[in-house]
Amino acid sequence: MGSVQIVTTILAAAITAVAVWLAVRAVMKMTAVIRLGQPAPERFGDKGARTKKMLVETAGHTRMLKWSVVGAAHWFVMVGFIVLSLLVLEAYFEVVSTGGGLPIIGHWTIFGLVTEWIGILGLVGILVLMAIRLRNRPGRAENRSRFTGSTMWQGYFVEWVVLLVLIFGFVIRGFKVATDHFEYPVWAAPLSHAVGSVLPDWEAGVSVAALIKIAISMTWLIVISLNVTMGVAWHRFLAFPNIFFKRDPEKPAGSGLGPLRPMTSEGKPLDFEEADPEKDQFGVAQVEQFTWKGLLDFSTCTECGRCQSQCPAWNTGKPLSPKLLVLSLRDHAYAKAPYLLAGGGKDLTGEEKATQEQLAGVDVLAMAEADRPLIGTAEEGGVIDPDVLWSCTTCGACVEQCPVDIEHVDHIVDMRRYQVLIESSFPSEAGVMLRNLENKGNPWGAPQNTREDWTKGLGFEVPRVGEVDDFEYLFWVGCAGAFEDRAKKTTRAVATLLNEAGVKFAILGEGETCSGDPARRIGNEFVFQMLAQQNVETLNEAFEGREKSKRKIVATCPHCFNTLGNEYGQLGGDFEVVHHTQLLAHLVSAGKLTPVQPVDGGVTYHDPCYLGRHNRIFAAPREVLGDSIQGELTEMPRNSERSFCCGAGGARMWMEEKIGKRINVDRVEEAMSTGAKTIAVGCPFCSTMLNDGVNGKGAGEQVEVVDVASVLLRSVKPEAPAGEPEVAPTAS
Ligand code: SF4
Ligand code: SF4
Repeated sequence: MGSVQIVTTILAAAITAVAVWLAVRAVMKMTAVIRLGQPAPERFGDKGARTKKMLVETAGHTRMLKWSVVGAAHWFVMVGFIVLSLLVLEAYFEVVSTGGGLPIIGHWTIFGLVTEWIGILGLVGILVLMAIRLRNRPGRAENRSRFTGSTMWQGYFVEWVVLLVLIFGFVIRGFKVATDHFEYPVWAAPLSHAVGSVLPDWEAGVSVAALIKIAISMTWLIVISLNVTMGVAWHRFLAFPNIFFKRDPEKPAGSGLGPLRPMTSEGKPLDFEEADPEKDQFGVAQVEQFTWKGLLDFSTCTECGRCQSQCPAWNTGKPLSPKLLVLSLRDHAYAKAPYLLAGGGKDLTGEEKATQEQLAGVDVLAMAEADRPLIGTAEEGGVIDPDVLWSCTTCGACVEQCPVDIEHVDHIVDMRRYQVLIESSFPSEAGVMLRNLENKGNPWGAPQNTREDWTKGLGFEVPRVGEVDDFEYLFWVGCAGAFEDRAKKTTRAVATLLNEAGVKFAILGEGETCSGDPARRIGNEFVFQMLAQQNVETLNEAFEGREKSKRKIVATCPHCFNTLGNEYGQLGGDFEVVHHTQLLAHLVSAGKLTPVQPVDGGVTYHDPCYLGRHNRIFAAPREVLGDSIQGELTEMPRNSERSFCCGAGGARMWMEEKIGKRINVDRVEEAMSTGAKTIAVGCPFCSTMLNDGVNGKGAGEQVEVVDVASVLLRSVKPEAPAGEPEVAPTAS
């Protein structure tokens, strides 16, 4: 070992010792913060499926590859990081000796070949990512940049570290070539040989370059250890557990959320018959009331902004960005952590848990952070502004896009639950809807005895459950389908088509009440459970004695479809629920319905969030429309899993949209840009929102918004489309 190697070895050891000490401290701090969260025992089940999902999503980059160029570039950088970590390890042998290398594998040509090419592709990948970040940097691409609000220096820092580490890998190899210490042939390591051909024959070059490589890598470790909220770096480690512990690991990649999580306290689902707000946690009022998985979510955010770029609220000028919401919660959690770790926190009656002595040594900034309300305006020092909380349509676009499986919608609804159930604080307009749900069993407050009015004048009998036993499908009409004028046309069209196809079906009629979706999404779990339990009881009675495969329900409303099919199981109701477009597609393909007259003028289709993204039903409505128009659909730029919300989900249907551009207008403009004369929908809420958007633009003469079922009916029975409803809804 020469004098240069003695110096490089000492320096490498010193900086590594500091970096490792800081990293261990940072990991302990992060673990302590995440452990502050509430229990989530359900996250530990089915470890096989979890492991498989984690490997598929990380190794396959199944989410990132939806963003093809970025995804491919990121894949090479990720693989480069993992494989080339071995080369950082090798650098410790190289600071000691010019000819040093990893024992055993370091002498294999195959190792040289693989690391060479991963290094080259990693270089290309990081240059692409750097170019994309620069091209999309905030300010340059207006506020549409997905990086708006991201901590840009951290992204640049991480990218430069990766670039320099890769470059110095080739410089080390180049010096080995130049000093004749390189073992791999030109065909296995062409770039290293090319670099070596321009470097001087300097014996100490390998050790000096190796020291620089180690110094860059350890500087990175020191910087991220001093910044535990630096998700752009930490996600390299946290993404694995965050994906492992995701909910529903057995669902296909990119699945929407579907059901909401039940309300839990101490990790157990809340039963409202026994729940006590002084003993049980009702939603989330303090950041430590999220589960530990929530806190892990916040820590894992890479600040990539994919969620933000898809969010309908953000894209129409609302203050909500799912990314900024997650970052606010993360920063608050870590800033408040010293107070919580000292034993601080409020019990469920609002009393401080810690003694004066326990809090005596807590930093004043942490104490100030602890005083901030989780939900509050800027003047109140709130972490999340109420306008942010109530702007969410629960469309799921953020969850769909997030490459590390952060579950934004669950966190938003958990915060809403506390606001609604304990604070009674929510947009006042929605109060009428909630009162109507409690008193009348439907959001419009229409009399229950008008639920069957849509059946009048159909020309055939619509049987009720109880009057017939041999029905195949229970037709769940839904409140909109029963009371709202436009939706009634869909209900009548579906009933007509089912009758035409000879399907035996029956309705609950006055036995049906709201599925509870708007109550649940606004955060009123109490009203949801009340309605859901009643419906589960009614449905279980209707299907008494039948096995699950024969407990079939068809629903026209994707919100009912999602709630009945995905959420009633939480309350003891297991049914086979299909959306009407699925059943119609089946009936057409089975030859029981025959479209005869093509619907012309061009048709585009708007995917309802709760049918498409939340439940992955993209094909069936398109098949029905394709058969009806006997040609190709005209797709909107944002379609299928990237479809843009109509603005009505998450109970937004019953709230005023006072900030920014109206979401439905944005969507209607996109639909009209296709030139199609018909905008087909598969949801009564979408129908209302898009119709309002068309009317608001004064474009009622140019385009028509209709349900897929009505389009099919026009093609199957062009001479006799379903008539207008005879009774207007009665609102109260
Ligand atoms: S669910 Fe939709 S509206 Fe809500 S934050 Fe996510 S993308 Fe935005
Ligand atoms: S998509 Fe996920 S990782 Fe990216 S900014 Fe949004 S929450 Fe963070």
